[in-house]
Amino acid sequence: THFGFETVPEGEKTERVYKVFESVAQKYDLMNDAMSLGVHRLWKDMLLHVMNPQPGMRLLDVAGGTGDISFRFLDYVRSQEERVARRVAQANQTPSWQEISTSYAAPGQEEVEPRRSRAIVCDINKEMLKVGQQKADRMGLTSGLSWVVGNAEELPFDDDQFDVYTVAFGIRNVTHIDLALQEAFRVLKPGGRFICLEFSKVANPLLSQLYNAYSFQVIPVLGEVIAGDWKSYQYLVESIRKFPDQETFKGMIEDAGFFSVRYHNLTGGVVAIHSGFKL
Ligand code: SAM
Repeated sequence: THFGFETVPEGEKTERVYKVFESVAQKYDLMNDAMSLGVHRLWKDMLLHVMNPQPGMRLLDVAGGTGDISFRFLDYVRSQEERVARRVAQANQTPSWQEISTSYAAPGQEEVEPRRSRAIVCDINKEMLKVGQQKADRMGLTSGLSWVVGNAEELPFDDDQFDVYTVAFGIRNVTHIDLALQEAFRVLKPGGRFICLEFSKVANPLLSQLYNAYSFQVIPVLGEVIAGDWKSYQYLVESIRKFPDQETFKGMIEDAGFFSVRYHNLTGGVVAIHSGFKL
């Protein structure tokens, strides 16, 4: 009794994944909390810790869904920017953004406009983006945030645009992972960083058994009870099982051209954060 994704022709995977997320969009955030007992929040916080956002950074959050990574990024970086502004004011200088921005702009890139950090949430599914936008409105978070419909395999952005590219729980849904990685490389600026948070492989046999039992027996039931959607959550479990292990995925990132590729396991390898630089 599986969802049959293994037998789906490649060309249809994108369409099926679209339907899954269209169907779960409204309940997506609630289900994340329920299935992970809230732990997905800590995993996302860890991604931000690895990123170490700096004022003026441009983030592209691919498969960004309802915006969790971008919200965390803007929240963190805005408080940093306010701290810098306060320091400048204390030093009795004009606390203008222009002044601050030039100190962070790359040589030759001095801008007339203040350079504040920005985040773009890009996702193939407009239903997920819609839920994210409503959430942003409720939080009063609008400045420096945009929502763009786009496919990770063919990003609607020019080359060398972003300081950071993130993809959280998204890359396993993409039909051609190698293309998505090449696109990540293309849109990052030289010196920019790729950071991926994704389900991975648990090494400890006991934890692995527990995790498998939970995944196959509990998650689809939760999906049915909370979202009325057994199949979508069965897909979720299958897609996790099929995703390459830490070392294999690291090799794929290197194949796309990234340097200094490394990963950290979280929760015993239930998820891993991979990162690499475009030089
Ligand atoms: N990053 C968000 C988070 O961590 O909560 C959302 C993750 S959600 C599990 C996976 C997202 O990947 C969905 O919103 C889905 O629409 C998106 N997605 C799937 N295939 C995609 C593709 N080819 N290009 C862009 N986004 C895609």
